[in-house]
Amino acid sequence: MILFGPPGAGKGTQAQYLVKKYNYYQLSTGNLLRSEIQNKTLTGNQISEIIGRGEMVTDDIVDSLISNVIKNNKYKNKIIFDGYPRNIDQAKNLSKILNENNQKIELIIFLNLKREEVIKRIEGRVTCNKCNKTFNKLVDKQEILNHSCGSTHLIKRTDDSAQTIIKRYDTYIDITKPMLDYYSSNSNFKEVDGSMKINQISSKIEDFISS
Ligand code: AMP
Repeated sequence: MILFGPPGAGKGTQAQYLVKKYNYYQLSTGNLLRSEIQNKTLTGNQISEIIGRGEMVTDDIVDSLISNVIKNNKYKNKIIFDGYPRNIDQAKNLSKILNENNQKIELIIFLNLKREEVIKRIEGRVTCNKCNKTFNKLVDKQEILNHSCGSTHLIKRTDDSAQTIIKRYDTYIDITKPMLDYYSSNSNFKEVDGSMKINQISSKIEDFISS
């Protein structure tokens, strides 16, 4: 399954829900890239500044990270792509690798969200650096206090600053949105209003899965 949409639309939140419910595997390219940075790998050193500027990491780096996961039999037919593909070349590359590994895209969910809402959500977002769960500082006060990893692990991502959010949204519109044309004519492409409540979105996605 592909979860597609602007930053802050809830892709990661929905992916984590589906992982629990269906035993799927969340392949978040953002998380993979951040762990490269945390582990100070060669790739990590190359990409830290790019992500901090709200720009896209090069296709060859991201393609090789996802390819390793797709080839792993443990995750066969279980992957939720969160944040990949982000442009047409990545979409084509994904089809090719899935084909080579006898897998296919069953469902493409487009979580749609307006620019103003994206900015509001990301400005208040904190992310757990242990489990990658996200919360909104303004809305989820109690959940933050009760977070099982401990609230000290909840940090603001460096690319979640006001200036970088706008850059990331504009990059999404320029580069990622043309993918809508690429996928939207597929019968397994489904648009969901990302401004709905988390559980309403989850239940819509569950309906698509069961149908
Ligand atoms: P995310 O966690 O999905 O919001 O991604 C955070 C950042 O990681 C993005 O702003 C990009 O800089 C980088 N990134 C994540 N996925 C991709 C991708 N598929 N292609 C290029 N860069 C990516």
